[in-house]
Amino acid sequence: MNSVASTFNPARLNDQIIESLYATAWGKGLKLKRERKARVNWLYRKHKDDKPSLALADKLETCKPNSRCKSPACPECGYAARQLLTPTGWQQDCVREHRPS
Ligand SMILES: [Zn+2]
Repeated sequence: MNSVASTFNPARLNDQIIESLYATAWGKGLKLKRERKARVNWLYRKHKDDKPSLALADKLETCKPNSRCKSPACPECGYAARQLLTPTGWQQDCVREHRPS
């Protein structure tokens, strides 16, 4: 891995996806984890001769709490990214309040 790409940069979206944004095991977490494992198995089964697909499967397979893959193809990391990017009701009210009329 390129060492420049792995350094922390707070302006980069991937570095803003923190563990607290992930679904909990008792909520959607278990379902998303199952989806990730199914996706890994599908990649290994359907694309066993395609090196990039196998690399993606390896990356998704190693995704775990406090050591996330942060791939857009990962159901768990995709959910966390959506939590970060989807404004809450309170944020929407602030935007509406400050919008020029
Ligand atoms: Zn992941």
